[in-house]
Amino acid sequence: MKLTVLGYLGGYPYKGQGTSSYLLESDGFSLLIDAGSSTLNILQKHIDPLRLDSVILSHYHEDHVADLGVLQYYRQLRGKDKSIPILPIYGHTEDLVGYRRLTLEGVSISMPYEEQQVLDVGPFSIQFLRTVHPVPCFAMRIKEKQTGKNLVYTGDSGYLGELIPFAFQTDVLLADTYLFAGKEKHPAHLTAKETGEIARLAQVKQVVLSHLPQDGDLQVLKKQTEKEVTNIPVRLASESMIVEW
Ligand SMILES: [Zn+2]
Ligand SMILES: [Zn+2]
Repeated sequence: MKLTVLGYLGGYPYKGQGTSSYLLESDGFSLLIDAGSSTLNILQKHIDPLRLDSVILSHYHEDHVADLGVLQYYRQLRGKDKSIPILPIYGHTEDLVGYRRLTLEGVSISMPYEEQQVLDVGPFSIQFLRTVHPVPCFAMRIKEKQTGKNLVYTGDSGYLGELIPFAFQTDVLLADTYLFAGKEKHPAHLTAKETGEIARLAQVKQVVLSHLPQDGDLQVLKKQTEKEVTNIPVRLASESMIVEW
């Protein structure tokens, strides 16, 4: 499995860096996870967006879907006469305005996922967990079916004890860590300390901190997570960072 960070900021792009978006590849299959602001430009450094096989969205906040419309236009305009398949875009159905945007006739089609169901997408099987957030949002545990290797993406979430069994012994915990320690129990995002606590109790193999704040010293943020874990590598997400396992 190969994860490429496209955008890693929370809320809004800043100084050339984009918001939440990740490319997950396995066995020639390319899955885009969230499509934040700047996604399309950064994605093009890695693959032609016409080659994307599928997209999945944690929720419909703009910092996770801002580039969805231009991704659809890219495929509509550049895919002309190239028999590009219709792009399946998976999202929850609890916000029908957000969900319906996933369909652009002849280009992309909205596909529902449900918390209680395991979703099959190409080489992956995906489980969901509702997070703590002002709007419906789902964390994902994405498993490569052939090998059992896996990734847990928290989506956006405040502290949630259920993330511990959900992320149990995952290979990579990709965690919304928008806040510095001291703001625990926030209604929308994890603090660096909480990410560390979840990682330790879930015995994850490595942690990638993402959905990062624009302000403040990120090395301090990283140290606050590291303080909570022993022998679990912690990395700060950055543009085009690749994690392979
Ligand atoms: Zn967000
Ligand atoms: Zn959000």
